[in-house]
Amino acid sequence: KESTTRENNVAKIKVVVRKRPLNRKELSRKEEDIITVHDSSCLTVYEPKLKVDLTAYVEKHEFCFDAVLDEHVSNDEVYRETVEPIIPIIFQRTKATCFAYGQTGSGKTYTMQPLPLRAAQDMVRLLHQPVYRNQNFKLWLSYFEIYGGKLFDLLSDRRQLLMREDGKKQVCIVGLQEFEVSDVQIVKEYIERGNAARSTGSTGANEESSRSHAILQLAVKKHIIVKDTRRQRDRDANEAKNTKAVGKISFIDLAGSERGADTTDNDRQTRIEGAEINKSLLALKECIRALDNDQIHIPFRGSKLTEVLRDSFVGNSRTVMISCISPNAGSCEHTLNTLRYADRVK
Ligand code: ADP
Ligand code: MG
Repeated sequence: KESTTRENNVAKIKVVVRKRPLNRKELSRKEEDIITVHDSSCLTVYEPKLKVDLTAYVEKHEFCFDAVLDEHVSNDEVYRETVEPIIPIIFQRTKATCFAYGQTGSGKTYTMQPLPLRAAQDMVRLLHQPVYRNQNFKLWLSYFEIYGGKLFDLLSDRRQLLMREDGKKQVCIVGLQEFEVSDVQIVKEYIERGNAARSTGSTGANEESSRSHAILQLAVKKHIIVKDTRRQRDRDANEAKNTKAVGKISFIDLAGSERGADTTDNDRQTRIEGAEINKSLLALKECIRALDNDQIHIPFRGSKLTEVLRDSFVGNSRTVMISCISPNAGSCEHTLNTLRYADRVK
């Protein structure tokens, strides 16, 4: 396909599907695995159906993507397939985004959690190479959440954050805490701290976090050496001011895709959140498609999520979408929805 223009051998948009294994509960219910992965890029869904006279039959749906990873693929292989090729070009001013899309329970968090850590490992290694060390590049981390259309900093007591657009149409999240991270252990600690701060509410962790988008960013910045002593003092006071962003990668654990359908729920709050999630997932698809078609106008304003990601969608950017699917027959409808969404993005 024309749109997968290859620069530095990395496609501008890559769509990967990951199938998880049947879990214990599904196995104990003797649920069937209705998904067959053929080769590394195609799969078939065998949808159980009933005729009007109630005889059972199976409808086959075939899909192909840039890559399809079956239930035997490890997180490490996922990293190598999705994020690893992008890391070197982050050091060459590229903004990249890696999303996990899918229904709650399909493996988004399982897939996304290890990725920033592995990325940080590779990025720290690159920082120590003479070519970058001499340029004074440093790695910075931030972690926030979009919940009900509002932004919360997961690394500063869930402080609510506001967005502002500057004169150059650059999006800036006012007050978002960024931390310089010089080794992987520190990255791990920040991630754990942020995870603990994710929306949990009263109904249990997975239930609530499935209604929010979690965004972890790793940015490479160039530290500007200030000679003037007065400005040197400023630098000590606020080191972040004397840095220039080079490249960035955002890891996004999206809200459960089925939550976008909660728009007719009896609970008002759930309805509002559902509408917001629906809006953001639609806007995301539209933005990626516009990006893929090299459209000048990218419809960022469709949602908070896409507005926040605006700077990652312009210029030299890379997008990886990992669509997570559950294998069990009971999830068939959600699985088909996820695959159709991914198909539209492709
Ligand atoms: P989501 O974030 O999409 O709601 P989770 O990542 O929490 O889903 O996954 C649901 C459950 O399935 C978790 O217990 C997780 O450990 C397990 N799981 C998900 N993907 C895999 C996989 N590829 N291999 C093994 N277990 C998995
Ligand atoms: Mg999750």
